[in-house]
Amino acid sequence: MNRIPTFEELQQDIAEFLRKKYGVNVQVGLHGNPASAGDASRSSEEAPSERLKRVLEFRMTPKEVKAYLDRFVIGQEEAKRALSIAICDHYNFIRECHRNPSLQEAEYTKQNVLMVGPTGVGKTYLIRTLAKLVGVPFVKADATKFSETGYVGGNVEDLVRDLVYQADGDVELAQYGIIYLDEIDKIATPPNVIGRDVSGRGVQMNLLKLLEETEVDLISPYDPAGQMQAALEVQRSGKLPRRKINTRHILFIVSGAFTDLAEIVKKRVAKTRIGFGGNIERGDDAEYLRQATSEDFVRFGFEPEFIGRLPVHVYCHPLTVDHLFEILRSSEGSIVRQYEQAFRAYGIEVHFEEEGLRAIAEQAHAEQTGARGLVTVCERIFRNYKFELPSSEVREFVVDRALVEDPEGTLQRLLSDPKFRQERIGHLALQRFAEEFRRETEISLHFDEAAVRALVERATQEGITVEETARRLLRDYGHGLRLIRRNTGQDTFTITREVIESPDAVLSDWIRRSYASAQQGRLEPGTSDESV
Ligand code: ADP
Repeated sequence: MNRIPTFEELQQDIAEFLRKKYGVNVQVGLHGNPASAGDASRSSEEAPSERLKRVLEFRMTPKEVKAYLDRFVIGQEEAKRALSIAICDHYNFIRECHRNPSLQEAEYTKQNVLMVGPTGVGKTYLIRTLAKLVGVPFVKADATKFSETGYVGGNVEDLVRDLVYQADGDVELAQYGIIYLDEIDKIATPPNVIGRDVSGRGVQMNLLKLLEETEVDLISPYDPAGQMQAALEVQRSGKLPRRKINTRHILFIVSGAFTDLAEIVKKRVAKTRIGFGGNIERGDDAEYLRQATSEDFVRFGFEPEFIGRLPVHVYCHPLTVDHLFEILRSSEGSIVRQYEQAFRAYGIEVHFEEEGLRAIAEQAHAEQTGARGLVTVCERIFRNYKFELPSSEVREFVVDRALVEDPEGTLQRLLSDPKFRQERIGHLALQRFAEEFRRETEISLHFDEAAVRALVERATQEGITVEETARRLLRDYGHGLRLIRRNTGQDTFTITREVIESPDAVLSDWIRRSYASAQQGRLEPGTSDESV
């Protein structure tokens, strides 16, 4: 096996290469003390970049940060609170340090975070969203890719260099970046597990150096190309570029699923037999994980110093069907927006009904991959739609429960049955009508299937839109239903085929009965009995 050259040897090689190829003499010893390179004060002399200024002007309160997270991340209330506080503390301290450099020396515990939670529940999403909010570079990697020596696999210091890359070379900005390390549970080394890969401990120790404070070379000793480029840069500009980055203010977030940790917590709780243990249902792993302490993490296989450098513990819970539904319906990052855009690019309007979204959420939940299941399910449902519809006559369609439960069958009907298509679109038009009606009257209308069919038929006969047909037939309903609401409190009505066939007769009958019921004093506000 070839011997790995030392850093100094590599530098010699580079100098030799440059001398031969370009006839230039470059001083070797690039690895020296940055102060001697004459650039130690460079950063303070240079004006901060716009991005950096934004970071140094970060002045949000934890509540404001959480409100921002709420727009994107559904659920995870506890995690959002804890992270909002940690982020504010961290960047407030950075701002103050920048104003008053003597603070750098003050005793300060960095708010590094240890996150526990299953896959796909928003751990990365939370941190990525925070990094975007503050305006700092963000780097994510799996802890399993690092080896103790760093030569095979990767070096933990590469993470810091990646931050510089993410900051477009702005070292100063990179110093305030966020490094996210997933699968941290895989580098734990429980003391009494025989045959377990012990290099995890070495990786922990390497990480510990970064978590504490260290200077990282901007160019990896294992990157001869980078070394060479740096040498060329020296030759081109005549000055040494800044070559070290300090990790003092880099925020570290580590995370993992920690499935076996629940057992450890359970044992500890059972031993103490006091406190919260009594409230935990048997087998409720999530609840145990939420209560994990530093002691439990050490027992799990982390070095005490390592855990000690991760003072903020955050638990992310599994996502329920309701959470997944909310993610689809209201998260600003919802995949629904992506599908709407993708179809719109072909001139096709897709409309998601709530029941359709719920059906997607149910299927995604069965995947057991958190919100990632949403992507899998949508991909499965819509792949053929994306293939077929752009070259068909379909210009609008509705995603309802029926479509989600039988995507192929619905697609074939959409493609081959114009009447079915019209009905689906009629459905949609009536939803819009009902929405407008609700805005004007604060009364909700629900059209049943037979009513939709009747309205579509009538609209086709009269050559006008379904919405317009509904508007004409139900023109007196705004006033009439308000009267009924006044009498009985009812504010939700179902429109049936009978209503479409004889709107005036049905409305008169409803009103008459509402007066009768008001006289009998049977006022039941808010009931949704459409037979008034
Ligand atoms: P992990 O917990 O494994 O880090 P991610 O945060 O990467 O999972 O989640 C994958 C994707 O799923 C995110 O990019 C986001 O789109 C979506 N997602 C996951 N959890 C949530 C959540 N709680 N709210 C909104 N979207 C979420």
